[in-house]
Amino acid sequence: MTQAPKLRNDCFALPAGVHWTPVEDALALLEARLQTVVDIEERAVDTSDGRILAKAVMAHRSHPPYANSAVDGYALFGGLAQGEHCFELRDGRAAAGDAFAGSVAPGQALRILTGAALPEGADTVVLQEDVFVEGSKLYVNGPLKQGANARSSGEDVEQGAVLFSAGHVIQPQDIGVLVSVGVVQVKVFKTLRVALISTGAELCAPGIDSRLDQIFDANRPMLRAVLQRWGMQVVDMGIVPDDASLVCQALDEAAEEADVILTSGGASAGDEDHMSSILSEKGNMALWRIAVKPGRPLALGMWKGVPVFGLPGNPVAAFVCTLVFARPALMQLSGSSFSDPKALTLPATFAKNKKAGRREYLRARLRNGAVEAFASEGSGRVSGLSWADGLVELPDEAIQVTAGQLIRFIPYSSFGL
Ligand code: AMP
Ligand code: MG
Repeated sequence: MTQAPKLRNDCFALPAGVHWTPVEDALALLEARLQTVVDIEERAVDTSDGRILAKAVMAHRSHPPYANSAVDGYALFGGLAQGEHCFELRDGRAAAGDAFAGSVAPGQALRILTGAALPEGADTVVLQEDVFVEGSKLYVNGPLKQGANARSSGEDVEQGAVLFSAGHVIQPQDIGVLVSVGVVQVKVFKTLRVALISTGAELCAPGIDSRLDQIFDANRPMLRAVLQRWGMQVVDMGIVPDDASLVCQALDEAAEEADVILTSGGASAGDEDHMSSILSEKGNMALWRIAVKPGRPLALGMWKGVPVFGLPGNPVAAFVCTLVFARPALMQLSGSSFSDPKALTLPATFAKNKKAGRREYLRARLRNGAVEAFASEGSGRVSGLSWADGLVELPDEAIQVTAGQLIRFIPYSSFGL
């Protein structure tokens, strides 16, 4: 496969009659509807950090490739019983990168250094601290297990073993493993190109002479940084005022240059919600009223074959919706799979009475093994995003949180930040 298949135009349609979609169902729908949209390329392992494997990778050779010594000491054959044993020391030694050419007969021992190949006839190494040498005699106190201090060939990874499957995101430690087993090139997905658009007549770029009735566009630089952390390529489309033809033009350009479009602002169903009105007119939009706080509806549509995620404009909601909904969706479009962010179960330091009906994410932080929540739940309080180092996830059902009660805390790092 060189050309990724296209998404269907109706891929964001919602089942009829659904009014408020639970988070779980929204995620399941996204998972079912989205697929990889990027092509495959070949890449050197040492420049593949953060890339997503397009094909499973097998070990080209075993690790370790040959039996070798784990310590500095003396190589000999077999296990030793309790008591003193005497060996005849052979001339020469085995060192890493300098194998011993001869063999070691029973009753003989050979000086060996860490990483050196075990000489023929030897399968056990005695630590140099545990011996006494006198001339050509080596004295060892048993017991010593057969195979002690030696690593056998392939004991870590066998040649041909599948190390990683397609969809795996390569980590720095994986690069070490891949190189150890002789893998030089990997097939990975091309980086997902994500266009970012901020919409709103009140928005202006930071740094310019602003009027007090203007709002600095915080979402675009914030989301750009998030996407870059996720290894995606950002196509920055700037700020677009609430004007239908300008919004269309921006979407056209974005669809040319990117694999997916993220917009913020104007996603609800109000008079000034231009993104959702244009997407519903021309972009097969479905307004996803997800039962979640914070977050108003997500406007999901297709623009010229490219999926559009219309996020709420409020920066707290835009951020949380990006982590909770856009992240798994974008990972799936990138060739990886949906996965729940790893959560920790920890005691709360706060009390809260939560009603049934929607899932809630609180800005929260971990201090002394317990979870504190930001004082205000107001979604206008952007500073709470930085005060926090993660989110508390409260279930859809009603819950009465009391201090000391175990709750789910998802550190930002679990969202790839
Ligand atoms: P909207 O979703 O367009 O109704 O916007 C909701 C709120 O978020 C309004 O108070 C907007 O001014 C604010 N807002 C929208 N977009 C941004 C942005 N890019 N940066 C900061 N605030 C924004
Ligand atoms: Mg707006």
